[in-house]
Amino acid sequence: MAGFKALLATKTDGGQSVDWSDLTQDDLMEGNVTIRVSHTTLNYKDGLAITGKAPIFRRWPMIPGIDLAGVVESSESSDYKKGDEVIVNGWGMGETHFGGYSEMARVDAGWLVPLPKQFNCSDAMAIGTAGYTAMLCVLALEDHNVKPKDGQVLVTGANGGVGSVAVALLSRLGYDVVASTGRTEEEDYLKYLGAKEVVDRNEFSGKASMLGKERWAGAVDSVGSTTLANVLSQTKYYGAVAACGLAQGPDLPTSVMPFILRGITLQGVDSVMASKERRLLAWGRLAKDLDIGKLRAMAVAHPLEDVLELAPQIVEGKVRGRVVFNVG
Ligand code: NDP
Repeated sequence: MAGFKALLATKTDGGQSVDWSDLTQDDLMEGNVTIRVSHTTLNYKDGLAITGKAPIFRRWPMIPGIDLAGVVESSESSDYKKGDEVIVNGWGMGETHFGGYSEMARVDAGWLVPLPKQFNCSDAMAIGTAGYTAMLCVLALEDHNVKPKDGQVLVTGANGGVGSVAVALLSRLGYDVVASTGRTEEEDYLKYLGAKEVVDRNEFSGKASMLGKERWAGAVDSVGSTTLANVLSQTKYYGAVAACGLAQGPDLPTSVMPFILRGITLQGVDSVMASKERRLLAWGRLAKDLDIGKLRAMAVAHPLEDVLELAPQIVEGKVRGRVVFNVG
């Protein structure tokens, strides 16, 4: 049986080691669809996993990579056949199930999303978990009735993967988007994506007052901590904040005041175990509402071999937009 290359994380006495390995299809984990991976990507969580900064791997050895796109090589499911182009996001890939940093993968058919015809596999990975999560956040704002006419919406961590896609999506949908960033020198990029205004993230770094001046009809936050606390205190009556991330920290030093005096909603967003129905909805909306020119402008292609060099950079907040890895 033909071998293939994969990145393999193994447990060591001192922690973990991550290196390239030659495997065969017999080494793959359980599943009824085998995929030849053509593209994958780099998310913040992948950076945490590879650097060992957080205990992402929960089974050893593990192939990292929470996303993949590629072509079905063989299938025991009647839903997919050889040659179908598919995407997988999350479901524990790169945590408990072998992930996308590999030329081959095997997963359950229920995890697959058919590649929307508007995208190629590289586009799908330019979106990846970060972009699909941005869409889930936009859906959350819509579920809570945040409309473009209600006023400005804030996107924090705007130069990051979730943030970049959220800015592009919200502006395309007609929202007045304010982008918060620590990299204000990237103002032209953020305005190209659709931000009307760019603000320095330091505005949200101090201790949050219980109730600040009302500013935001809604917000997409991938940062957490003090930033999210400030955003909540500035959210308008009956506004909503979709929170998906912890790039600043996992804490949330806030009070009940914005909730009980302004009726605001804090909607948590999880992409990993989102239902198949929600995923299909999100990918369908991405195909309709994401400007493909802007998507391609925010993505940088690399060979998969670069992942070890780029992983620490995303954890340090130094990656702009999205990274796409060509596999094989
Ligand atoms: P990126 O690293 O691409 O983006 C994170 C951005 O956050 C950075 O680019 C930076 O933006 C900002 N940032 C970084 N450090 C700080 C800090 N100390 N204080 C304030 N802002 C900071 O990561 P992703 O976009 O891939 O992911 C963002 C977050 O969302 C992560 O925490 C990730 O784990 C989470 N996530 C959660 C998902 C879920 O299912 N809930 C799915 C996907 C992601 P700037 O330079 O513009 O300030």
